[in-house]
Amino acid sequence: MNVVLPGRTIGILGGGQLGRMLAMEGRRMGYRVGVLDPVEHCPAAQVSDFSVQSALTDTQRVLDFVAQVDVVTVETELVPWELLAEIEKIKPTRPSSCVLALVQDRLVQRQFLQKHHLPQTSFASIEENVDLAHASLHVEFPAILKTSRSGYDGKGQIRVASEGGLNEAWKELGEVPSVLETIVPFKAELSVVLARSLNGAIQIYTLAENVHRQNILHTTRVPAQVANTVRSRAEELAVSLAKALDYCGIMAVELFLLEDDCLLINEVAPRPHNSGHFTLGACMTSQFEQHLRAICGLPLGDTTLLHPAVMMNLLGNLWRNGTPQWDRLLAHPRVRLHLYGKDQAKSGRKMGHFLLLEENPDRILHEAEVLLSCVTKNKNRSGRTTDHPIEIKSQLPGENQKEGETVALSERKKDVALCSSLSSADYSPKDMRKISQPDGEISA
Ligand code: AMP
Repeated sequence: MNVVLPGRTIGILGGGQLGRMLAMEGRRMGYRVGVLDPVEHCPAAQVSDFSVQSALTDTQRVLDFVAQVDVVTVETELVPWELLAEIEKIKPTRPSSCVLALVQDRLVQRQFLQKHHLPQTSFASIEENVDLAHASLHVEFPAILKTSRSGYDGKGQIRVASEGGLNEAWKELGEVPSVLETIVPFKAELSVVLARSLNGAIQIYTLAENVHRQNILHTTRVPAQVANTVRSRAEELAVSLAKALDYCGIMAVELFLLEDDCLLINEVAPRPHNSGHFTLGACMTSQFEQHLRAICGLPLGDTTLLHPAVMMNLLGNLWRNGTPQWDRLLAHPRVRLHLYGKDQAKSGRKMGHFLLLEENPDRILHEAEVLLSCVTKNKNRSGRTTDHPIEIKSQLPGENQKEGETVALSERKKDVALCSSLSSADYSPKDMRKISQPDGEISA
């Protein structure tokens, strides 16, 4: 087994926020880092030793890039697996092209889970018109139609209320190969982030509990508030999957938790995952360092959660009235802010995240929501941005406030009132979706 020691060069295909955090952790450890991405000043290029601007499909440019590095990894599963198969011939490449081929296609992924008797929702393949008629034999409605390829954060997905709507939904997706899935009435979404080393050793992070808004991850809370039996089962499923894939690196397994505490696998991500961002600040070894340890043939690091935490994504919508007021967020002493260096704040685009450390699992989501409402500039009736902070208590009603726990809040009383009106018993993922109003247009 070839060990790639600090001082050598890591090559990352894809230069978004995952590549950026990989590069930052890699450089901290003493590696040189090169990034290849179609965008010149992409988030990872800003923090790397060198970068190459190229499409991920430009074989020659990618191979020239690969010649300059000692080990190759990806920050997105969208790198063509055929290209990765070429790279594998000349450089250690982790994860492998086989893994990418499998996860790039939802249908292949579902069939793989089926073959390994791993639990998932019922599904049907829709490749041509004739499949539409047979789909209801395998899938119950309401269902969700997803393109087999290139979908992420809910893109390329349409909910289908009944069999009658299937034809139209497929047309809307462009009649491309798709997978129809029964909608799972989950009570929570969970994820297991784990690392598997080159020699097969496995380290698992604390089970995370995720809330999505409009199909985009909104918060991740650790530890997940579930029974120990659920925790063990989730870990068991993720380990089985990692072994079945003969995986090397960090990966995330997204799960649905049903009313009866059964777990179904939604999907697998063969890379650092948004729901693993809490590890950067709340764990001894971040998922990014862990990935580098794994792909470089080093021993894995400790995954112990040092402190309960919540990670909240910061989407482009926050910029709608100008640059968010980060000073208000950072007024909280147990917050870590991560901004990804993206120059355009588009609606739904992940611009950054913050990590909040807090002991009380009920209170933590509430506090994160209040903090989020603090940073947005608001417009008053005349259309002017208001900037008059008021001091509010950041805790649940009735709790004693400790010194230093006030946060400055602008006049966004609606959100705050909504947050404050929730009692701790209300903080189930389902209830948090109640405050998931879509944000408006963005002017930034
Ligand atoms: P995906 O891109 O497949 O991870 O889907 C994004 C989000 O859509 C998930 O995290 C769920 O919140 C929701 N979702 C996707 N598939 C299903 C399903 N079969 N049943 C219920 N919710 C789903």
